[in-house]
Amino acid sequence: MPHTLTCQDVADRLIDYVEGDLEPDDRAAFEVHMARCAECATFLASYLRATELARHAVLQAMPAAARDRLVEALRKNLSACDDDET
Ligand SMILES: [Zn+2]
Repeated sequence: MPHTLTCQDVADRLIDYVEGDLEPDDRAAFEVHMARCAECATFLASYLRATELARHAVLQAMPAAARDRLVEALRKNLSACDDDET
């Protein structure tokens, strides 16, 4: 019988679980709790959805012009480094 987690335990471990940093035993206990607790399952689903949206948002929210400027600036920095060598 794996040790059981409280909802608070699950919340504390959520990020480690998502990042894949939990020990196998903790991971199993986490998933047992998720299977039995609708609240935590919903919380996990919304957390995953939020991080997913955030990832897309960073790329999509940046206007093409700003992205081009950023790329240009990075390129200049890189070539500036090259120039220092000569
Ligand atoms: Zn719970």
